[in-house]
Amino acid sequence: MREVFPEGARVGVLTAQPLGHVLDYLAPEGGCGLGDYVEVPLGPRRVMGVVWGPGEGSFDAAKLRRVGRVLDAVPMREEMRAFLTRAADYTLTPLSLMLRLATRTPGLGEAPGALRVYRRGEGQPERMTVPRERVLEVLEAFGGLSFTLSELATEAGVSTGVVKGLVPSGAVLEEDQPRDRPYPRLDPARPGKALAGDQAEAAQALCAGLASGAYGTTLLKGVTGSGKTEVYLEAVAECLRQGRQALVLLPEIALTAEFLTRVEARFGARPAEWHSGVTSVERRRLWRMAGEGGAQLVVGARSALFLPFQDLGLIVVDEEHDSSYKQEEGVLYNARDMAVLRASLCSAQVVLASATPSLESWANADAGKYARLDLSSRFGTATLPEMQAIDMRAEETAPGRWISPALEAAVRARLGASRQSLLFLNRRGYAPLTVCRACGHMIGCEHCDARMVEHRFQRRLVCHQCGESRPIPEACPSCGVEGKLVPVGPGVERLAEEAVALFPEARVAVLSSDLFGSARALKAQIEAIAGGEADIIIGTQLVAKGHNFPLLTLVGVIDADLGLQGSDLRAAERTFQLMRQVAGRAGRGSERGLALLQTYQPEHPVIRAILTGDEEGFWRAEAEERRAAGVPPYGRMAGIILSAPEARPAFDLGTWLARNDGALRRVGAQVFGPAPAPVARIRGRHRVRLLVKAPKGVPLQAAISDWIAPVKLPPNLRLAVDIDPQSFM
Ligand code: ADP
Ligand code: ZN
Repeated sequence: MREVFPEGARVGVLTAQPLGHVLDYLAPEGGCGLGDYVEVPLGPRRVMGVVWGPGEGSFDAAKLRRVGRVLDAVPMREEMRAFLTRAADYTLTPLSLMLRLATRTPGLGEAPGALRVYRRGEGQPERMTVPRERVLEVLEAFGGLSFTLSELATEAGVSTGVVKGLVPSGAVLEEDQPRDRPYPRLDPARPGKALAGDQAEAAQALCAGLASGAYGTTLLKGVTGSGKTEVYLEAVAECLRQGRQALVLLPEIALTAEFLTRVEARFGARPAEWHSGVTSVERRRLWRMAGEGGAQLVVGARSALFLPFQDLGLIVVDEEHDSSYKQEEGVLYNARDMAVLRASLCSAQVVLASATPSLESWANADAGKYARLDLSSRFGTATLPEMQAIDMRAEETAPGRWISPALEAAVRARLGASRQSLLFLNRRGYAPLTVCRACGHMIGCEHCDARMVEHRFQRRLVCHQCGESRPIPEACPSCGVEGKLVPVGPGVERLAEEAVALFPEARVAVLSSDLFGSARALKAQIEAIAGGEADIIIGTQLVAKGHNFPLLTLVGVIDADLGLQGSDLRAAERTFQLMRQVAGRAGRGSERGLALLQTYQPEHPVIRAILTGDEEGFWRAEAEERRAAGVPPYGRMAGIILSAPEARPAFDLGTWLARNDGALRRVGAQVFGPAPAPVARIRGRHRVRLLVKAPKGVPLQAAISDWIAPVKLPPNLRLAVDIDPQSFM
């Protein structure tokens, strides 16, 4: 039974305001219960909060204020409160910020009621105009979803009058919709694909885990195209049969469209969708329906983990190694790890799916903490691509060119056979560097310690750290000489230029996140390419993620050595994963694919491991190195970033922290630094970094809390703690 507080009793309310603690209030008329969403007065304002427990009691009873009202929403479950508390402790984030993640829904305080919405109708407007066309395009692109008036107008970039003007003809329907309707039922009884061999065994093992009703995590490892998705859809089916809810996390919005279609084919209806591209009407509906059980399956981005599920039985983290699961701004958390935490608190199963797991998950499976299932071959006749190195030292590649003669010949052969080629280069823009040939000056960002990257399509120089951009100058900003600025090095745009020059008859398409105004435009482009509307695809790591291009039989990696530079402890792991993923794009149809890696160091152990495909050997060697160095996953790390408009105070505080490290030393942790962060300035703020290393199993978070507790931050200085850092910027 939920604890209830009668009118006038003292209750503790957690708000999403950055106060750092739970506040005492008096229960309102009619009382309130544990977990209730409430509105409370705070200073002159009214804010949303959650009844977190009995009042703490020390605050003067005469000054206590009363809870305003209890909101009309399913109370937060105990399991969710435990999850937020544990996640806050783990990431060293104030609980209030965690609550904010868990209440990212518009109109939480508003009654369900009806909402005026607009959706596509059968009719056609008598007169078509460009703005009208845009409205209809938006409605069609979102596949039948409803919008509010202002949402639709904003999305289409038109005035609300344009939308209204489409109503009389029936092209757009104006309706009053009950705000929060359940999602269409998914039918788990519909038959899935007939699973073959190890697929069937894997599906059975996952279903057995679900049937146990207990927590468990399974690493589902299988090469791209081996049927991981088919297998975990069986687990979803089992979860739905049990009447529990399932969540599938995908690393990239652009991947959702294909997945939604597959779910619809399998279960007869589309699941609920949660990510930044979803309208606020839908976000509210989904938040409510997750809590009331009206959403059986949610597909979404990492923040979907914080939805108030009624009875979550399964979380799938697809492409679990993907670094985008780590949130790098605001609350720094890794969705993969938080998925495991959440599941352990609600007796759910986790499936971590990947062709190239993170070393963390590999090690957890190796240590027996996770179960592991392997799908060893591609489904059907598809086979893994052949992998070869192109030794760039032996190739006669002209200066300012990046496609070697060997790669050129391979592309030409594909063009002749009406097959697609992918040229992979993990660098956005035209050129990573612009140099003045008169004085040697390299153009940098004024606010960051970073070079400006030329983006020729946009005719601008862009800083990839802060997004600042400016027109490409005629004269050197340093010496003033005109006409001497030259681009140095390749980005995808420059590579596209080279491809067009080499293969004038070919249709060249560039896939890079910055070239698309919206996730929708990108999705459309990906679909067009999959349908054969390009001969040569030039792409950044965006293309490495799960897209299926049936006509693609050649992958050329322009610079396989790129990721091996730098001091990131995951450089080898990332390169290995990325190269294997990219290569996996080739030959998913019935023909065998070929992956060619341009490299200057074909004997490098990582390049060798990529080529031979000896994955277990690679993981084992990598694990040994990390174990010897005492770094993750065999040791623990935390990053501390101090930032301020001036470098000096950040350094002074860093030095003070490094000297007063007793709390860390007591648990056997060591602190390194302070040192300028690898990117020493971002958006005008100087950044100083400390790195904490600790043996596995020590209470690192508690020690860090004690260590930084005495710090009184001056107004302009920020301190961010990053537990298990992924990026070493
Ligand atoms: P992964 O998720 O491992 O990349 P998918 O589940 O997407 O692999 O499978 C690759 C392709 O093979 C998909 O088009 C899928 O529908 C098909 N496929 C996989 N297993 C089967 C099966 N047992 N029967 C029919 N088609 C299958
Ligand atoms: Zn910048």
